Amino acid sequence: MDMDSFVYTASPARVIFGSGTVAKLPEELARLGLSRPLLLSTPYQTAQADELERILLADDAGRGIAPAGLFAEATMHTPVAVTERAVEAARAAGADCLVSVGGGSTIGLGKAVSVRTGLYHVAVPTTYAGSEVTPILGETADGRKVTRSAPEIRPGTVIYDVDLTLTLPAGLTATSGVNAVAHAVEALYAQNGNPVVGLLAQEGVRALSSSLPGLAADPASRPLRAAALYGAWLCGTCLGSVGMSLHHKLCHTLGGSFGLPHAETHTIVLPHALAYNLPRIPAAAQKLAEALPGSEGDAIRGLNLLLDRLGVERSLAAFGMKEADIDRAAELAAGNPYWNPREVEQKLIREVIRRAWAGEPAR
Ligand code: NAD
Repeated sequence: MDMDSFVYTASPARVIFGSGTVAKLPEELARLGLSRPLLLSTPYQTAQADELERILLADDAGRGIAPAGLFAEATMHTPVAVTERAVEAARAAGADCLVSVGGGSTIGLGKAVSVRTGLYHVAVPTTYAGSEVTPILGETADGRKVTRSAPEIRPGTVIYDVDLTLTLPAGLTATSGVNAVAHAVEALYAQNGNPVVGLLAQEGVRALSSSLPGLAADPASRPLRAAALYGAWLCGTCLGSVGMSLHHKLCHTLGGSFGLPHAETHTIVLPHALAYNLPRIPAAAQKLAEALPGSEGDAIRGLNLLLDRLGVERSLAAFGMKEADIDRAAELAAGNPYWNPREVEQKLIREVIRRAWAGEPAR
């Protein structure tokens, strides 16, 4: 990164952070002059959406907020058919805004509906994926995932409520947290990186790497949940601010073409993608190592130590990827040109994917 010349664009989202902050939803909607939100969730998180509805209905400040209803069909990969049903539900109920409560899948639905209807979007994230602070939307139609980026896709308000993350299962807490770390790792060596995003990345990695191992043992710890959610916000901001490279492209290919789960795939691939880029990113690797406890100046060591302490699955084969898929994955990952600090050579990338498939240590 050249300190003399860089471009930094601040992301305009309004962020409300803390414990019990969903109670501020009525006030936030009133501030915006909105009064009829359509709530969005997955079928598994309707209890949290119901809680938001209760908060809105119980609001006795005379703000007159009546939810337009709950659309609880959010699902992975943002299928356009689901989005169209949600758009119809919003129109039929006369919604004047959207409130998504959930992980990247639900927030993706909120973005997809918002960008089609122009409705204001309040995101209430419950995982560490970071979608709520990015202008990126990936949608699937006819089995193809298409990703686009535009400022109007980014939610207008984000309410981070630490309490809503207390129910995040231990496994997803670990992998979703490493998914967030991956945004910061690639931000540290992004072509369009800048010193401000570098600070956010280091602070995000510090917050997550110091809280995730403790959460594996005590998932109900509010201080650790707060640190992890704070880290996820910073790392998500990195994802929304600068370009991602090899790691994110590999995970996108593996998830999109072989049906591998999002957060788990990020967790397995990260040390391997970092090891591939390492010879070309000495300054970024040093910054990353500084933020990872026990790294002793070696970012790969620090990352491996974190994953060991989290006890996460390390092989893609465990999620059903076949050995025969490795060649095709390498072809797809190398065939689609994008900027990376090190040239993406198909033969070498095949070995990166093979190691991740087999669960071998990164080197
Ligand atoms: P997810 O949203 O698919 O959630 C996984 C499951 O966990 C769901 O069943 C959900 O209901 C449940 N869940 C979430 N939070 C919970 C909680 N606190 N308590 C109990 N259950 C909870 O998973 P994700 O990893 O957050 O998101 C992955 C998706 O988001 C992928 O499709 C990915 O492409 C997308 N994504 C997009 C961006 C972007 O910037 N566009 C960024 C990150 C992820």
